Amino acid sequence: MPKLFRDRTLPARCPFCRAEFQRPVEVEGDQWYDFAAGSCRCGAVFAHDPTARNGGAVFLQALLMVADGDMDRAMGLAEGVDYDVGYVPKYNLELHRLEPNSFGTLYFVRLRALAGD
Ligand SMILES: [Zn+2]
Repeated sequence: MPKLFRDRTLPARCPFCRAEFQRPVEVEGDQWYDFAAGSCRCGAVFAHDPTARNGGAVFLQALLMVADGDMDRAMGLAEGVDYDVGYVPKYNLELHRLEPNSFGTLYFVRLRALAGD
């Protein structure tokens, strides 16, 4: 990899705990989970929007995942009360790093009940 290119990327880190996390993977077995997703050791879950155009649907998936797939529960959660949201823009799935010309975004959701664990 050319040095110039390498120097323009940054490691992808969790917006909540700043830890590096595992690359998102396809989620099997649920019709709602269209996007690659993963979780951080701090309890945050995230979903990957590869185009920067699916934001609402990707965020909804992350919210649904944090609610264990329970749509009623997910809809009953309030941002800033029950959970916090974080974004990781310029995410490049192939590199699993932040890269200035990439359009991917990771949407993070973490329940407040998990904070401090
Ligand atoms: Zn984290």
